[in-house]
Amino acid sequence: MSFLVSNIQRFSIHDGPGIRTTIFLKGCGLRCLWCQNPESIRSKPELLFDQKKCLGCRKCIEKCPFNIDNTKGFLSSKEAFEKCNDCFECVKACPTNALTQIGDRITIDDLMAQVSRDRHYYKHSGGGITFSGGEPLLQSKPLKAFLELCQMENIHTLIETAGYVNWKNFEQVLPFVDRWYYDLKTGNTKLHQKIVGVDPELIWDNASKLINAIGLEEAKRKINFRMPVVPGINDTMESLEGLKHLLLKLKIPKLTLLPYHNFGEIKLQKIKPLPKIKQLGIENEKSNLALSKVEKFFKNNGIAISIEQGLFNDQTKNETQTKIKVENRIKKIKNKSLIKHKHHDYTLSTRIEKLKRDYFSLKPGICTERSDNLYRYYKNEENLKKPIIIQRAESIISILTNSTTKIYDDELLVGSWNSKRVGGSIYPEISHIVALLNELFKFDSRKINPLRITKKEKYKLLKQLPFWMKNSFISNFIKRSGTHTVSTLIDALKVERFFINELGGIGHYCPDNKKLITLGTTGIKRQASKLQKKTDDLNRKNFYDSIITVCDGLEKWAGNYSKLAKDLANKLDDNNPRKKELFKISNICDRVPKYPARTFHEALQSILFIQIAFNMESLDNGISPGRLDQILYPYYKSDIQKGILTREQAFELLCSFSIKLSELVPVMDTNTGDIHGGHLAGQVVCIGGVDPEGNDSTNELSMIFLDVMNKLRIRQPNWWARIHPNSPEEFLKKISTNLIDEVHSPALVNDEKAIPILLNKNVTLRDARNYIPLGCVELIPSHQVVGSTDAGMINLVYPLELTLGLKKRGKRKIKNKKKQLYNCKSIDDLVELYAIQLDKLIDDFMIDLTLIERVHSELFPTPLISTFLEGCIESGIDVTQGSTKYVWSGVQGIGAPDVADSLIAIDQVIFKEKYCDLKTLRRALKRNFVGYECLRNKLLNAPKYGNDIPVVDNMLSRIMKLYNDLLNRRINTRNGKLCAGFYSTTIHTVFGTNSHALPNGSLKGTTLSNGLSPAVGNDRLGPTAALNSASNLDVNSAENGLTFNLTLNSNVLYGEQGVNNMQSLIQGYFENGGLQTQINVFDVKQLEDAYENPEKYPHLLVRVSGYTAYFNDLTPKMKREIIDRERKRKL
Ligand code: SF4
Ligand code: SF4
Repeated sequence: MSFLVSNIQRFSIHDGPGIRTTIFLKGCGLRCLWCQNPESIRSKPELLFDQKKCLGCRKCIEKCPFNIDNTKGFLSSKEAFEKCNDCFECVKACPTNALTQIGDRITIDDLMAQVSRDRHYYKHSGGGITFSGGEPLLQSKPLKAFLELCQMENIHTLIETAGYVNWKNFEQVLPFVDRWYYDLKTGNTKLHQKIVGVDPELIWDNASKLINAIGLEEAKRKINFRMPVVPGINDTMESLEGLKHLLLKLKIPKLTLLPYHNFGEIKLQKIKPLPKIKQLGIENEKSNLALSKVEKFFKNNGIAISIEQGLFNDQTKNETQTKIKVENRIKKIKNKSLIKHKHHDYTLSTRIEKLKRDYFSLKPGICTERSDNLYRYYKNEENLKKPIIIQRAESIISILTNSTTKIYDDELLVGSWNSKRVGGSIYPEISHIVALLNELFKFDSRKINPLRITKKEKYKLLKQLPFWMKNSFISNFIKRSGTHTVSTLIDALKVERFFINELGGIGHYCPDNKKLITLGTTGIKRQASKLQKKTDDLNRKNFYDSIITVCDGLEKWAGNYSKLAKDLANKLDDNNPRKKELFKISNICDRVPKYPARTFHEALQSILFIQIAFNMESLDNGISPGRLDQILYPYYKSDIQKGILTREQAFELLCSFSIKLSELVPVMDTNTGDIHGGHLAGQVVCIGGVDPEGNDSTNELSMIFLDVMNKLRIRQPNWWARIHPNSPEEFLKKISTNLIDEVHSPALVNDEKAIPILLNKNVTLRDARNYIPLGCVELIPSHQVVGSTDAGMINLVYPLELTLGLKKRGKRKIKNKKKQLYNCKSIDDLVELYAIQLDKLIDDFMIDLTLIERVHSELFPTPLISTFLEGCIESGIDVTQGSTKYVWSGVQGIGAPDVADSLIAIDQVIFKEKYCDLKTLRRALKRNFVGYECLRNKLLNAPKYGNDIPVVDNMLSRIMKLYNDLLNRRINTRNGKLCAGFYSTTIHTVFGTNSHALPNGSLKGTTLSNGLSPAVGNDRLGPTAALNSASNLDVNSAENGLTFNLTLNSNVLYGEQGVNNMQSLIQGYFENGGLQTQINVFDVKQLEDAYENPEKYPHLLVRVSGYTAYFNDLTPKMKREIIDRERKRKL
């Protein structure tokens, strides 16, 4: 048994409760003048023609048995119209989908298989299947069989009917339908005949019978009578009066009004013309006026009115939930979740408003204090005689203790990243030498992300340059790598094959903040001294000395703040409330980080100090405070119980902390800024998740953090939430509300997938359960790993270009490459060739990475961070030598979806359809498809990732696995394996610029896909299909994490129903096996406006991928991509 289906629409949120799939069946007995789905009227398949897609290639005419020419308008001549026999030979011939067949026979089993793919989303949202049309009841036989199946599968069902069928059709399906939407066009018989084409008796009679069959009370809940309001057609007084009488007679005095829209008119241009149905040319304004008039009429006559905008109501949700309660494991467990967070409507205090204003008012700048202090330290020849690790410890302390100590008005937490308050420091000893050489005199005048710097500061840096050219990481790298430097520099500047982030330092740590606030630096020094006494090894002894040095320095640095706070307080009048605050700050800085924190405020201050200090030691990237809701909760709870802290005060302190973190703006030159756009700093604060025993650890602080994100809306920290099946309902709802509110935070990760990934890397279960996404998205067990999680980024499209002979490999060529390519008989042959090229590319990458790592470990140890990572103090060895409990390096693969889409397109068009050979494809790609437009359209029309198509998703998994396996075979100099990440910050735009036309149909220079998100515009079936594609992937190969961006227009998800649907998307996706996602909800029009008028939106926050940024801080290319993620998707 089969249906004749005209369309299947997933993520349908206005055709019944929750998230639904709407199935449009073909065939209808009515001829409403305003028909919204004219392509569903005929009871047979038919042609659809889209003039915009037509290339004029005439292939359709050649194939047509009657040589019908559609190219100047669809079946425009009467003769053609009569001749066409709907054989669809022209459709098969059309390379661009300008001609398509509307109406397909689908068996019940196939349809069930298709709709079941979104069942996770139905279950969580209270959604299900809606049958629409056409008139679905005309196909009552297969409908009955299908609905019966749905009932067995606990899938909620809804039928939209116009009622113009025999009553027996209703009877057949009646027991299996959960809801009815019953459309009444007018209550006037004569008008009905005129505007609908038939007498209304049968429709009205069926309505009455349906109510009787269901029972009046039940019918009131189950049947929704609806009226489309078509201005000038059915909104006349006699029409409305008649309908009023009918509803009162039926004893159901309520009605849903459907606003008229002109989608049907657009479709009319594409199908065979139908008599009677024509374009009405009704504009929105007219439609809205008519709607108000009709609403008023019915309300005045005692009929309850709702207007369709998404018809969710609690009753329907309950209906569905009752059906699914047996299998709804997760919701049952959730009832046990304990989270005692009374709802607080936090508002930003005057203090926080002011701090935020001050932060926004300052243009980011460059501070030279760090490099000045460092320069001074290294210019002292006595210092250079000391062991390297001591030099490093003393120099970092010199940077901290000699920097300007400032406490700004109203601050509760103190400590500055630099003298500019908002800005970044210079790291000349690592990679900033390149930035200085490139842009020292352009920083303040460049168009994107200008950075304030005075003339004096520029010249100071200029003076220091010769010293750093001899003594920096780069100069040492050149000394060690000799002539190979040239190739490394070419790669670094060209950004075509790969980019090594580790050139700028390792960064990317999550320090053990718990250790800091429980032991204090005094406790840590004690530990170091004890271990020092036990060793005779000089290097270890030096290492412990360096630990003691940095701890002493931290205490001294905090002491500077304590003194300043006291001095400032002493200058104030006794009745000035700030005086008391400053004394409190002074006491806190006296106490921490030296001693264990005793209060929430002390703990937070201690963490802020150390966060700044870590960033002064390592390049300011990816240093993440970690699971702060867990670390801080005991202090919060104890203070609340003692009555020395209120929730509002905790909220205010956390807001202060966030503002402090946002004040850091890493300095990047334009090239690096293009790669890591939007002032990427990646200071992750993660909330929620399970504890080491596997129990839900979400607490009241987790909820307050969500309020901080919502109310503050600033760039840092990089907020994450860990989700698992026992995550409390309240937590999920609040996250969903944030996302609907366009906060873009938190990003989300699934414990059930992330923890096994770490277990596969031999991380213990307890440690794995304490993981965080680091920097952007990298999965690490907190404070136990030197993951160098952003060691580098490899362009996965590049080896495909080599495989296809589009680029030359330089010296190390593969013999008989072309011959091998043209001998490929299957996609497997091609993947094999691709694997060889990828392997060789990774070899090249490894040569550079190894050299870089050696320089780091020999000359740039990091004693401060080593103090706070498990394994370093214990072993007496610096982290750069791989002394942490776990060691690895993460290398990101960029453009994996583009490779998968390309391979699938080749498989379909070249190997299966044999449309052309590989030689022709190569030629077409080399010529950027000029003269090969038909081939390009064929390739574009091949299946693409992001549409829940297993064959494509499997290909992507295959590429991911291939890449991860190849990396896993390599060991870094710290004796850790390399592993694959799939996130791209913004480097995909740069790699894309250098790419050829590709077999996925993209033209030369097109931006590659962002992480594992579908290429822009490719996710054509909406969010559920895109999410399913992501959850189909074998994420175990994404050992270093991945990004999957989901973008939704704010006019799709809003209000209570929007929150419900958002929550369901999240839960459904994770239950389905998704690893992570970050969700952008925004108003496309607003972003377009922000693109054109940046001055109107100085701090508009958007989610780039694994992090958020201000829209204005992004390159035009990246801005365009973010807008197009939503604009180009065809829902
Ligand atoms: S459907 Fe068949 S008869 Fe009609 S235009 Fe196409 S090829 Fe010709
Ligand atoms: S693009 Fe399609 S519809 Fe247009 S002429 Fe070619 S085959 Fe015909």
